[in-house]
Amino acid sequence: MTGAQDYLPDTHDLDRLVQAARRCRGCDLYRDAEQTVFGEGSAGAGLMLVGEQPGDQEDRAGRPFVGPAGRLLDKALTAAEVDRDQIYVTNAVKHFKFTRAAGTRRIHKTPSRTEVVACRPWLFAELASVDPDVVVLMGATAAQALLGSNFRLTAHRGEELRLPADPPLGVDPSVVTTTHPSAILRGTGVDRAKKFDDLVADLRFAAGLQAR
Ligand code: SF4
Repeated sequence: MTGAQDYLPDTHDLDRLVQAARRCRGCDLYRDAEQTVFGEGSAGAGLMLVGEQPGDQEDRAGRPFVGPAGRLLDKALTAAEVDRDQIYVTNAVKHFKFTRAAGTRRIHKTPSRTEVVACRPWLFAELASVDPDVVVLMGATAAQALLGSNFRLTAHRGEELRLPADPPLGVDPSVVTTTHPSAILRGTGVDRAKKFDDLVADLRFAAGLQAR
């Protein structure tokens, strides 16, 4: 495992980053997945959302947040009055990690810390390229990718935070951590409704932090 930095072009151009990421072999996750799922959205977005990794449908489509979690995210964005066309959406890890259930069904598997760190140069490059005012980290994997492995999302959900100074990324967005839409899908009843409302509130708060 060499890490994504060996495949990273020296550019902030998003299109060139997308092209280069298609050839990434920085960790073993490319072997079983269909394709790299890079971020997408407005290159000048004030708001960037970061999830964990692509899921089954994202891996097939080659686009982030187009499956069940993506549909729930779209619903939350609409409720928060945030236009998805105006933001940038990506994941901490760009290939789908899964196990196979009986038959052919592919079951999501959480990426390891080593895989998250291996893939992080792509996320750093996206941050440097888009230079958003605000980054929303959805779920523990995304939060710990940028805020460190000791970061506890439950203790800081919905607060305005900053990125650590190390490594220097050349950008200094506000950071808000929130629940990943997949965690809301796994919830039931009142718990699910409460988590959805929290996600909407966090997205609305984050959108309000953008420079005007
Ligand atoms: S998960 Fe990231 S580091 Fe690993 S092969 Fe895919 S793009 Fe490269």
